[in-house]
Amino acid sequence: MANIEQSKAVIDGFRKQYNTPYSIADLTATVCTLCGVDMPEECAGVPIPSVIDQGDKLMNGVGKNEKVLLFCADALGENQRTHFTEEFARIEKIAGFRILSTSVMPSVTPVCYGTIFTGAAPCVHGIEKYEKPVLQCDTLFDAFARAGKNVAVCAMNNCSIDMIFRGRKIDYYSFRSDEQSFKMAMELMTRTDDYDVIVCYMNDYDARMHKTGPFSEECKQQAVWAADRFEAFARQADEYWKKFNHTIVFVPDHGGHYVSEVKGGHGSDMPEDMLVNHYYRICEAAE
Ligand SMILES: [Zn+2]
Repeated sequence: MANIEQSKAVIDGFRKQYNTPYSIADLTATVCTLCGVDMPEECAGVPIPSVIDQGDKLMNGVGKNEKVLLFCADALGENQRTHFTEEFARIEKIAGFRILSTSVMPSVTPVCYGTIFTGAAPCVHGIEKYEKPVLQCDTLFDAFARAGKNVAVCAMNNCSIDMIFRGRKIDYYSFRSDEQSFKMAMELMTRTDDYDVIVCYMNDYDARMHKTGPFSEECKQQAVWAADRFEAFARQADEYWKKFNHTIVFVPDHGGHYVSEVKGGHGSDMPEDMLVNHYYRICEAAE
């Protein structure tokens, strides 16, 4: 309990500082509640009421969601939304729910995805700077595995998501490109006996942002691909998951800003880095 109180203090501090009721730590609490899975031990996030209510209404009860796709588009935060308006409008149109949320400090990838998938503050989950050790803290992945669910993570090899959640009773699909991770996630969605939760990580917006600044032509192309892929996941779910109650979520970790005229970065306690939107699409099974 002490850990949960400690996490709550940190997470609630950012909620207050940025004047938004939600945190990236709420993702794990929300997905576990939608699926009727007990939350990880250290989870201090809160299930998002509007999202849970929609699941309750469409699925005739809380905890009845069966399939989940989590699209982890690195660094595509609120600052990016206000710039790439067309692409984020496409994402919002598919999802229905846009949940403006605060990240945690330092706002770098392993720290933030550590919080997203544990519901714990960095000082509790243990990654407090840019490093990629295997997380020792209980995670959403452990929680789903304990509940007898099958989880797949598709990500670029040696990226944070590929590294820090190793050692769980889940399957890891590791590739050299985002496109391969995307294609594998799309294929796994068709294998409905095999997986209940599929994570697809997208690395390249973040990578290009550091090299070319957040709003370069190259970054714009990445934003277009992020919207294209989210649309493709929705179409795939409509086709292959129609017999299941299902949810797909767009899950960035932090935003980013210009650090010089031609380079971008993140990691700071500023709105450009700390505000992100998590988008939820909740669908009931077709009869
Ligand atoms: Zn990141």
